[in-house]
Amino acid sequence: AAHPATTRVTAMPGDGIGPEVFEATRRIFEAAGAPIEWEIAEAGAEVFRKGIPSGAPRETLDSIAKNRLALKGPLETPVGYGAKSANVTLRKHFELYANIRPVRELPGIKTPFTGRGIDMVIVRENVEDVYAGIEHMQTPDVAQCLKLMTRPGCERIIRAAFGLALAEDRRKVTCATKANIMKLTEGMMKRVFEAVGPEYPAIAQDHIIIDNCAHQLVIAPEQFDVIVTSNMNGDIISDLAAGLVGGLGIAPSANLGDHAAIFEAVHGSAPQIAGKGLANPTALLSAAIMMLRHIGAFEVAATIEQALFITLAEGENLTGDLSPRGHGVGTEKFVGQVIANLG
Ligand code: NAD
Repeated sequence: AAHPATTRVTAMPGDGIGPEVFEATRRIFEAAGAPIEWEIAEAGAEVFRKGIPSGAPRETLDSIAKNRLALKGPLETPVGYGAKSANVTLRKHFELYANIRPVRELPGIKTPFTGRGIDMVIVRENVEDVYAGIEHMQTPDVAQCLKLMTRPGCERIIRAAFGLALAEDRRKVTCATKANIMKLTEGMMKRVFEAVGPEYPAIAQDHIIIDNCAHQLVIAPEQFDVIVTSNMNGDIISDLAAGLVGGLGIAPSANLGDHAAIFEAVHGSAPQIAGKGLANPTALLSAAIMMLRHIGAFEVAATIEQALFITLAEGENLTGDLSPRGHGVGTEKFVGQVIANLG
């Protein structure tokens, strides 16, 4: 057979632990023979320091526009005034309206919920809502933030959720909103869900108020399959859900649009441990595995995932966030074990 064609992917190692977890992912991909060619691009803190207020320079945007595929490390958001979030810049520039966050129990990772059968995907609207960042001061003492939600915006995220449910053979889509209070904005998402739902008769569907959703996620998380929700709600409940199965060190996500896809870890730049060789690369590696499946490289995705799962299940070379106090190994040793388990 011919050598498999390689796919070029824009890689933004990012800030803090980003370069460490990216390097870990790159090495594992190389060892597994994943058919990926990385095109390294800048984004985040170093870009802000150069005085580019979007946090993402032209060359980076051009690289993503050309490759339509990117893997991104965490980007530090400058706190205070002036600069924007580079993450928000990328999401809005490429109209990455769907943020997909799978949440499931992983082998070897013990939590109070182990054995409950948690396996869900949170589908978060990614460009509208209060996170569009449209804020201003009405008077020196009154700040206003606009919550904008559009019918097309609701429809495409709801269709993305049903499409994902069909593609992954899932049974149910739950729409979580605050429609009882915000009848027009959140209410629109609920109404569009109820209007579009009948086109997907094979999928069970229900609506839940977002605060009860948070409650149910803790009380009985195994009841959920696919949850579709607005931007800020989704941000909060997906971090909550990540906590149910082992925390931010293992949670991957995909930002999908019609013209590009950016895969990333859910976690941030973890400045407390940056540069110390302690970061857990599982989240970014898992995001990169999602990317392989997105481009149809199912076999190598399964090989890498298997090696990761074996390493986690063995439990002997886990990073500090996953091990009892004082027993964690460094990123390097963890990566070595994953590579050894590639078979
Ligand atoms: P964080 O995710 O960086 O850290 C939260 C906690 O989790 C810390 O205790 C950290 O040490 C730990 N942690 C996170 N990832 C880990 C890993 N891979 N291995 C081991 N431990 C890990 O959240 P934060 O401290 O709120 O944010 C730090 C910076 O990251 C901020 O500037 C924030 O804006 C940015 N951020 C970026 C993204 C992104 O780029 N997608 C997401 C969240 C936060």
